[in-house]
Amino acid sequence: MIVFNSLLMNKKILLIVLVFISSISLLYAKKISGYTYEDVNRNGKFDKKDKLLKNVLVFGKSNFTISNKKAFFVLEDESDRFISAVAPPKFQAFNPKSKLINSKVELSKDSDSVYIGFVRSDYDIDKEMRLNFIGDVQVNDSIETKYAISSIYSELANSNSDLDIYMGDLVNENPNLIQGQKDIIEQIGRKYSCIFGNHDRNLNSDNQVNKFEDCFGSQNFAYNVSNNLIVGINNIFPESKKGYKAQISEFQIRLIEQLAKLYPNQNLILCMHAPLKYSKNKDLLLTVLQNCKNILVISAHMHTFSRNFHACPNGKIIHEINCGATCGNFWRGEKNIFGVPASIMQCGSPRGYLVLNIKANGVYDFKYKMVNGDKIRQMSIWYKNQDSLNLKIEDFDVYDNKTLLVNLYAASDSTQLYAYIGNKKIKCQKIKVTDPFVRRIVYLNKNKLYPSGNSNKAVLRKSKSNHIWKLNLDENLLSKTSRINFIAYDKYGLNIKQSFIIKP
Ligand SMILES: [Zn+2]
Repeated sequence: MIVFNSLLMNKKILLIVLVFISSISLLYAKKISGYTYEDVNRNGKFDKKDKLLKNVLVFGKSNFTISNKKAFFVLEDESDRFISAVAPPKFQAFNPKSKLINSKVELSKDSDSVYIGFVRSDYDIDKEMRLNFIGDVQVNDSIETKYAISSIYSELANSNSDLDIYMGDLVNENPNLIQGQKDIIEQIGRKYSCIFGNHDRNLNSDNQVNKFEDCFGSQNFAYNVSNNLIVGINNIFPESKKGYKAQISEFQIRLIEQLAKLYPNQNLILCMHAPLKYSKNKDLLLTVLQNCKNILVISAHMHTFSRNFHACPNGKIIHEINCGATCGNFWRGEKNIFGVPASIMQCGSPRGYLVLNIKANGVYDFKYKMVNGDKIRQMSIWYKNQDSLNLKIEDFDVYDNKTLLVNLYAASDSTQLYAYIGNKKIKCQKIKVTDPFVRRIVYLNKNKLYPSGNSNKAVLRKSKSNHIWKLNLDENLLSKTSRINFIAYDKYGLNIKQSFIIKP
């Protein structure tokens, strides 16, 4: 009887808690209603000349809806300052003051009704698009902002991409620097979007995304450009006061599922800061993504260039490209002649970003782009006696004079690398070692030869790189000066060539 009574009691308590929780959500949920329309005369307000636009997805913090055939919608949500609306193909949000693309729609303080206007897109349908994905600029102060201005930002000012997507961590836990980054990015003068990263959080506020959202719009956004549906989600979930974990929420998964249903023929480019590979609820998301025709996932956060492949329950493989960091290894290491730290990443890739070319039919190729480096530079090679210092580094003893190491920055496990020397074709072998140039810096740090002068010590270890290949040279090539042509490819969009002259 005692057991029975306590069970009954527990049920009662549960019921009271449930009623309490649902009354709280009713308290905060409100009805936001309105119309979606084409702003034909591009004046930012709904008037006689404008046309109603149906089937537009509108979403808030935890709910979404689609405007009906009369272009009317009602969204029940707890959103207060703003909601979001997804620009359909051939349309874009009206934003004459900024180059930012986002879904954010401001709400008025004294009304819960809103007219959401779109104008005709600047991007043609069926256009082959070039997109830059720029990982972790991560500036800590005004000095690092100047490093970024004189390297990545100035480079982007000369780039001919159609759209730039900043992949999060623009700043390093200094939210007061966010507006300054926006001012610089606007000067580049090209359309862009920003993903929220863990270091963009405002740790002095309960609302950790507020400073970011004031500058760059909603932390979750979606829009169509040409034949692509770009979706950006915030997968940084706060834990304790300063902690966080990578997680995709149930709402984000439902939203992505709805977007994929609404635009089944668009190429879905799903962007998030922390890798999908390490995100909680990844498997749940894969059950949604497996039905998409063309899908590519882009992430950052790791400060290494890497690629992951995810198997969906139906056997579909989803490709994730981690675009590296443009601050490299946190703006540290020896400075170049212009006073900017070299900041090579632990994987041995120089500071860089991802350049993606995607056709209307979803076929894409991509390249790694070293900041301030020639676009041809997709790999570095090392052999033992190219530098007298190499003879002093003990870990290099395992390599003989016939061995050449190739670090292929954008490669994955499925990449094939071939060397062509004269009329010989040699298959290179993937190995797991520390990048030799990183190893060199570790040696120089340890022997107090680095950092020199005005530079900061690079925080590099002997951790191994995921994209190094070994080439064993032929005996009769060793004494000759030779040209080596490398060709690398895989079936996931990597196709590169680079040549070197060597004299081992
Ligand atoms: Zn991060």
